[in-house]
Amino acid sequence: MSGPATAPDDDATAVPEPPTPPCVEIADSRTSQVGSITVRRALPQRPRRTVGAWCFVDHAGPTDAASGMSVGPHPHIGLHTVTWLLEGSLVHRDSVGSEQVIRPGQLNLMTAGNGVSHAEEPAPGHSGRTHGMQLWVAQPEATRHGPPAFEHHAELPVIGHEAGTVTVLVGSSGDVVSPARADTELTGLALDVRPGRLVLPVDRGHEHAIVLSTGSLAIDGSTVRPGQLAYLGVGRDELVLEVSEPTAGLVLGGVPFPEPVKMWWNYVARTQDEITAAHEQWTERADRFGVTGSALDSIDVGPPPWVRR
Ligand code: MN
Repeated sequence: MSGPATAPDDDATAVPEPPTPPCVEIADSRTSQVGSITVRRALPQRPRRTVGAWCFVDHAGPTDAASGMSVGPHPHIGLHTVTWLLEGSLVHRDSVGSEQVIRPGQLNLMTAGNGVSHAEEPAPGHSGRTHGMQLWVAQPEATRHGPPAFEHHAELPVIGHEAGTVTVLVGSSGDVVSPARADTELTGLALDVRPGRLVLPVDRGHEHAIVLSTGSLAIDGSTVRPGQLAYLGVGRDELVLEVSEPTAGLVLGGVPFPEPVKMWWNYVARTQDEITAAHEQWTERADRFGVTGSALDSIDVGPPPWVRR
């Protein structure tokens, strides 16, 4: 549930694709291995690397594996991790000192800043299914060198609609605002909807995308299903969604990220040298990444491709 722990992002280049006017661009997620489970990675895509500051979206499970979505200690820089569960529960441990159980309907938001490490473990008594979304948000220059932090939101604002509910994870929907930290203008909404028509007010200065975990819906006549990213462009005042079956998923958005982003393994930075330095420090277990307190084995991978000989 924690990122590309075994599969480095294969493309470390990085200028975000310019936003487009309203559109529906549907791209298939690709599968990747995180810990013991296979995930569907909706972001980054080539060429679309970011939606607002959202730079990474994994749809994990559902899985019946006894280990759930456990991932041993690993580092991050320059990003927030956002964890949203649909089924099951996890224990989050990090080098800030956090130890937090997360359950469906709750939000974990960890800020890496200059460096953090964390692990996800099955919650005590874990059995049955685990299913969720793991996302990253790129931090802007103003905060990405700052201290790490962790927030758990046990309750989030939920908006009732005729077609179901919209939970405001990050940012706002209409005048309903999430308490979660956002370093740039960002939107993250979780849909849990029945067949019908759902109209969501959005900011026309934001670009948006939809990633579903179950069901299907249509926008502008195009059908969106799990295993896809539907990019919607900027310049919309509302999203009109035609829901044809019970459906759950996320609406992601934000002001198009103005800075080039370089991603490799669990790092979000601006240059190869920043990533090389961070990875050397993780490999040496430097103080920069702290200690998580997890009993799981820490995760290591070889150096970035640009330093191999
Ligand atoms: Mn992680």
